Amino acid sequence: MNHPRKITALARIVWGLAVCTGVGFAPFAAVAADVTPVFPPPPRLATTAAELAALRAALDFPRTRAAAIAAGEALLAKPVELPAGYGGWVFYYACPADGATLRANNAKEHQCPKCGKHFTDDKVVAAYRGQLHHAAERAAETLGWAFAYSGEDRYAAEVRGILVHLAREYPSYPSRLDRWGMRGFLARWGGRRYVQSLDEAVGIIRFAKGYDLTRTSPAWTAADRELVERDLFGLTAETLLAFNQDTINHQTWYNAGLLAIASVRADAALVQKVLTMRGGFHDQLQRSLGADGLWHEGTMAYHNYALQALLELVDAGRRLGLPLHDEPRLRAMLRAPLAAAYPNGVFPAINDSDPGDIRQFAGAWEWAWKTYREPLFGQAAAWKNPAKLTALLGPAATEISPLPTLSENLADAGLAILRAGSGPGATAVFLDYGPHGGGHGHPDKLNITLFANGREWLLDPGRLTYSVPEHKSWSKTTAAHNTVTLAGQSQHPATGKLLFFHVATNFSACAAECDTAYSGATLRRFLLLTPQFLADIFEVEATRPRQIDWFAHALAASLGPVESRDDGVPVAPGNDDGYQHLKDPRRWQITGGSRWDFAEDAKKPDAPRLRLWLADRAPEEIFTTTGIGYHLGQKAPCLIRRRHDTRTRFIVVYDISGRGDGLRQVAAAETDPAPLKITTPEATWDITLSRTAVRANVTRQP
Ligand SMILES: [Zn+2]
Ligand SMILES: [Zn+2]
Repeated sequence: MNHPRKITALARIVWGLAVCTGVGFAPFAAVAADVTPVFPPPPRLATTAAELAALRAALDFPRTRAAAIAAGEALLAKPVELPAGYGGWVFYYACPADGATLRANNAKEHQCPKCGKHFTDDKVVAAYRGQLHHAAERAAETLGWAFAYSGEDRYAAEVRGILVHLAREYPSYPSRLDRWGMRGFLARWGGRRYVQSLDEAVGIIRFAKGYDLTRTSPAWTAADRELVERDLFGLTAETLLAFNQDTINHQTWYNAGLLAIASVRADAALVQKVLTMRGGFHDQLQRSLGADGLWHEGTMAYHNYALQALLELVDAGRRLGLPLHDEPRLRAMLRAPLAAAYPNGVFPAINDSDPGDIRQFAGAWEWAWKTYREPLFGQAAAWKNPAKLTALLGPAATEISPLPTLSENLADAGLAILRAGSGPGATAVFLDYGPHGGGHGHPDKLNITLFANGREWLLDPGRLTYSVPEHKSWSKTTAAHNTVTLAGQSQHPATGKLLFFHVATNFSACAAECDTAYSGATLRRFLLLTPQFLADIFEVEATRPRQIDWFAHALAASLGPVESRDDGVPVAPGNDDGYQHLKDPRRWQITGGSRWDFAEDAKKPDAPRLRLWLADRAPEEIFTTTGIGYHLGQKAPCLIRRRHDTRTRFIVVYDISGRGDGLRQVAAAETDPAPLKITTPEATWDITLSRTAVRANVTRQP
């Protein structure tokens, strides 16, 4: 999921003018009216005099102060080793034979703790220096706080020593190498103090804070300050401005680093530039975020990473009198993760994601609560943490779930989310119909994930890890997803479109289609969710007969037929494009509907289960097999329905009671649009779905 680049009308006009007049790259037009920054006496980046006074008055200040001083003392007792030269690529500080992280015998000689091999080559030595640079950054900030709380100049003197050393070194660093030490195309991403500018951006914020906190100490001379501001902060700013990364999260960190530099150097022009340039603060809020507030790079990890940088930048700006936190899109970005989570707070692992829950945003939400005093953020920051709830919202606060219970279409992300019920009985199904997701996207158009009975059933495996071949051979195949393949091949990267999204009092429904995932074929999926069941109709319309495979992968211990059947035939459903990872296959030839259970425990008949009613009458082959879950050791049973046809329609109704007794009967007619009759113990549903609308008539059982 990703969203198309959007340029505001104003920007498009400016852009057009620039092209017409041959000016070339015009500066991006500021979206908001900008306020001139004011530069109060330091500190003004890490904190302000007013914030420090409030901290000192707080009840727990003695503890905060003692912790900061203890950390500062540790760094005085064992000062960091200062790097002589730029920092190399961090992943080179590992043994090529066994992957173990190396240990330093001294700056020039390193050893593998596993196999004992010695390393003295430039790559390893430079990678070690990279670690020293990171340690120096952490030390400068830590010592800065020790000085701020204690007023003792020896901490400031140590910060001065670190920063002056690096300012003396910086002009000697090579200009912009790539991570292999080369000057090729990728050197544009390179930095000078590190091999990527991203590391310089993140690191310079710590240095700037250490400087900001200590620069008023007599440990600093005017000449030292001039040197550091010019040759460390000034030259780093040049590095960060050399290559603009436009809408991506690296640029967000460049912006945060640049604003930190602008703050300590009292550089009003640089402040304006960071806020108003193309790829700058306002431009990224417009173009890197969807209207749904989700970051465009398609995973929660990137959303979070960009958000961290934005909060750094916003805090730096606020301390210069710029109300950057008032931007509505920043607030939407803070809210957005809540909308994209399951009822248990876990995110489906869409695209190159890892499994994770909303707690990764707790720090950002605490910031948002303190900034906006919006109770939703306080509740979100204190989610599943009663002590935090009391600390933030007061002793009288009661827990209110910050997670949504209503269905929602996240249009720019291309996610239709149907929700039913609340509390422990809450259900959610996510339909991914939107943009592919760039380099981190998966060929998963019309994939669904399903949460019910307090757990995830239908999963997307996410990225596994980048370091295993299955990242490509499994995660990035269509066969690993709960959607359809044609001719056993993965889909092309594609963007689908939503046909309708409908929320009624007793159900919600949506439909989406995509005609570019396979040439000459249209895929279309309809979903209708009630608290009792999920109806799922998948239509395929092609121009010639092909093998059509429908997939359901679940987190479960077992998968098997509900009706007693023979053991099936051990035939593999395929050999490549993800199919090679499907183990223990069984195949049945079935005509006329069947039922299958994914069960949490194979041995216990009363264990929670997801029952699938395959309701249509078309003859088909059914495979049960085992794929990969969230890591290579996790098995995820998989059901495949296979047909050879030009057009077909798979109708599945999922019983989400968790017990397998939530449905009495499911009947589908082979007509168009498809009427579906679903009988639960309480009611009979007559459902008609078409490309444009859904109708559902409910008759209560007498
Ligand atoms: Zn080794
Ligand atoms: Zn995926």
